[in-house]
Amino acid sequence: MSQGIAWDPGFQRGGFLLHGVTGALLGDMRCSQDDRCPQRIQPIILGRQVHGSRIVVVDGNKARLSRLPVPETDGFLTASRSVALGVCVAECAPVFLAVPRKGWVGILHAGWRGLAAGIVKKACRSLKRRMGTTNLKDLKVSIGPHIGPCCYEVQWGVAQFFKRSAALKADRSSWVLNLGKEIAIQLEECGINPASISEANFCTVHDPGFFSHRRDGDRRRMLAYIVRK
Ligand SMILES: [Zn+2]
Repeated sequence: MSQGIAWDPGFQRGGFLLHGVTGALLGDMRCSQDDRCPQRIQPIILGRQVHGSRIVVVDGNKARLSRLPVPETDGFLTASRSVALGVCVAECAPVFLAVPRKGWVGILHAGWRGLAAGIVKKACRSLKRRMGTTNLKDLKVSIGPHIGPCCYEVQWGVAQFFKRSAALKADRSSWVLNLGKEIAIQLEECGINPASISEANFCTVHDPGFFSHRRDGDRRRMLAYIVRK
């Protein structure tokens, strides 16, 4: 974390893109405040997030004219330069996607509902279709800060969707969900090389540098963004 922004240096290496997640230091970045991209990149495309699986492919020229935010959307992909794609998060994971060789970047808002609805697999399918390829061996993924398994206690109603990434607690009263692991499993099922997936080791509940709905009990959000340079 530097100047209130967390990012993954390995994912950004090569100069193809910029990405990051704002921390608490930069204040509330709820999606209604859609002109607050920390690196002053304009426009920034945001969705009215519904924990769904709809992904919109952004055409940079049209995006500059359209009204924001995009209705009922939790993910974006683009091959356009200088258009920032954003999602607002507090405990859900921002998932950053990049295929430098083909010129694509993307971002997903991935909480348990979105994952159960298939947002990761839809993003992979959409990328394949747009790039005209049957494999995603060049896709690199960075899973941003989110609620860690240390703090993510859920009931069976949630755990039932994630039999591989949820673990029953020792006292058998509830389950613990590992969002990052679930995202990685779903990516690998889409053919992504595990070595191409990295995960931030922050827990947004434990780390006071981030907002947390569970810890703070309010609606403050952080902005995750990615832009192809
Ligand atoms: Zn934690």
